[in-house]
Amino acid sequence: MTAEARLAPDHGVDDQIDADDLLSLVRNYNPKTNEALIRGAFEYGRQMHDGQTRHSGEPYFTHPVAVAAILTEQRLDDATIVTALLHDTIEDTRSTYAEVASQFGDEVAGLVDGVTKLTNLQLSNRESKQAENFRKLFMAMSKDLRVILVKLADRLHNMRTIRHMRPDKQRQKAHETMDIYAPLAGRMGMHWMREELEDLSFRVLNPEARSSIIRRFLTLQRETGDVIPKITDDIEAVLDKHGVSAQVFGRAKKPYSIWRKMQEKKLAFSRLSDIYGFRVITESEDDCYRVLGAIHQRWKSVPGRFKDYISQPKSNGYRSIHTTVSGRDGKRVEVQIRTRQMHEVAESGVAAHWSYRDGVRAANPFAVDPAKWLESLTERFENAEDHDEFLEHVKLEMYSDQVFCFTPKGDVVKLPRGATPIDFAYSIHTRIGHSCVGAKVDGLRVPLWTRLKNGQSVDVITAEGQTPQATWIDIATTGRAKAAIRRSLREVDRDRYIKLGKELARVAFEQIGKKATDKALATAAKALSLRDGDEVLARIGSAELSARDVVGELYPELAHGDDQSVIEEKRAVIGLPPGARTMRAQCCQPVPGERIVGITYPGKGPLVHAIDCLALAAFDEAPDRWIDLHWTDGRHAVIHNVTVDVTISNENGVLGRICTLIGEQNANISDLHFIDRKPDFFRLLIDVEVRDAEHLHAVMMAVEADSDVVTLDRFRDLDRRP
Ligand code: MN
Repeated sequence: MTAEARLAPDHGVDDQIDADDLLSLVRNYNPKTNEALIRGAFEYGRQMHDGQTRHSGEPYFTHPVAVAAILTEQRLDDATIVTALLHDTIEDTRSTYAEVASQFGDEVAGLVDGVTKLTNLQLSNRESKQAENFRKLFMAMSKDLRVILVKLADRLHNMRTIRHMRPDKQRQKAHETMDIYAPLAGRMGMHWMREELEDLSFRVLNPEARSSIIRRFLTLQRETGDVIPKITDDIEAVLDKHGVSAQVFGRAKKPYSIWRKMQEKKLAFSRLSDIYGFRVITESEDDCYRVLGAIHQRWKSVPGRFKDYISQPKSNGYRSIHTTVSGRDGKRVEVQIRTRQMHEVAESGVAAHWSYRDGVRAANPFAVDPAKWLESLTERFENAEDHDEFLEHVKLEMYSDQVFCFTPKGDVVKLPRGATPIDFAYSIHTRIGHSCVGAKVDGLRVPLWTRLKNGQSVDVITAEGQTPQATWIDIATTGRAKAAIRRSLREVDRDRYIKLGKELARVAFEQIGKKATDKALATAAKALSLRDGDEVLARIGSAELSARDVVGELYPELAHGDDQSVIEEKRAVIGLPPGARTMRAQCCQPVPGERIVGITYPGKGPLVHAIDCLALAAFDEAPDRWIDLHWTDGRHAVIHNVTVDVTISNENGVLGRICTLIGEQNANISDLHFIDRKPDFFRLLIDVEVRDAEHLHAVMMAVEADSDVVTLDRFRDLDRRP
């Protein structure tokens, strides 16, 4: 069948076809077809769909058969034909994956399952910006391109028979087809299918525009006669003169592509060139160039319209020469020149890989390897003509780090691979994320740490009063979710800060013999332009404000020049035997303000540990070596080294910012080393010199507040004993 015959809008594939008819269609191109397999699938499908009818009233099974027949026109392999016959069985009948697999093999079952998954996608096209995501989703979900070939044929048949559906359904399907299926067909290299899908949709979506274009064609024909045979004759005469044998086909372009050009170029029909397209099919590549030479010699070529896709094929395997010349009466005529083999590829695109020609599969040297073809989609095209199809720079590898999921309304949400329902919830709205208590994936409750998969529909369960949990930080993968969780946790921490601030304020006030009463705090709030006393406490607790400064604000005369609280190091610890010198244990690095205990060593002063240091377990059996120690109250002048363990995102400037944050707290960094460098995260140990627990707390709060800090802890190391 020629391409032109294929382009005819209503050929009879939806007439009833029996198993013999289908087999003879297959045998035409594939004499070695597995007849038993195809008959078996035909019989199985017929039984499964028995009793079901289409909107037209015909038996349902006429549909899968028609889909199979469409695929025979593309000369596809047995597995694809069988898949077409069975493509609605798993979804719509009592048939199961296991049954299909046991009767027709794993390959067919896998293909049918793939088609079922695509069918189950609830495509919503209320927003056309979603269309691109849907097309990517299709590609990402279809590990075998034959799945898409069957799905496209399925859609083609449904569009051909769409008049039987309700008008609103017709429009919905036509939109979907225009947005998703037609561009997909184009990308698969199947231009005839793209054009037919567009035209069938156009007929539903804008029947007035379509018939107006057709009327104008008829008018033009009345005025100038049918120019196609005339131009065809002209071209043939020129080729004869040059002694090149080739076939010439002409056609008027489809109403939709004319309408689109009119829209794009804002031209009236009468001023539109490129209404007609001609193809010259040659026997050899050399002949293509001879045809080109002959045509250019006879007619004036239009500048900027010459494309040689023979020496530089398109990524989907398309090869052809395109040129536009000013023909009869100065009318522009586009001519495509290609060999018969190139024509095969141009018509079937990537399907050529599974196609049979003269009983041999994939004999076509230009048929692209589907894996390579998918890869090649990553290439970007400079050619303006390709923009339609490749504007999106389809990149399948890129999709492998993305998943596409659905909201209950059917909108697509794009997430990084590994994303969880938490990420999904935050991607919809921060409020949804915050109040998330659970999730249903494809209707089933799942734990929040579940990794989402392509095509799943996710329903977030929310509850009022729910707040983000600290564990969510590890469950979330997107920056957006992590940041929102962190922010919220900080809010929740406010109570804790107020409590801590109260304690710090009490100590600071007592040092000057005052009390941190509500009244005193309210006065301080006013002086510092803060909301209220609680805000003062929260800021002290979160280290945004030091208790000392608050005291200074209220009692400048008492806070200044008060050296009483500065205590010499040798008097820092209470409870030491006379004359003993202490050392801080490096495993826990205790600082003033923390509860401590001493462990004695013969001939040395005691070693000071934090009371919760794990190293102390070693001394459980030696009670006589323990001595009770306390830091003295008040301000310590001497600095103490503390190691903090911090994980930061590997972004420019993060480390510098953290050093600045520490410096702003008047703390010195004495050492810093990396212990883990991942592409996205750095883990490092920072030695900070601090006066006491309050100072350390202030430093840690400041660092932790940075959004690029992932984790921050005191570093405790049992192996680091002096
Ligand atoms: Mn179907």
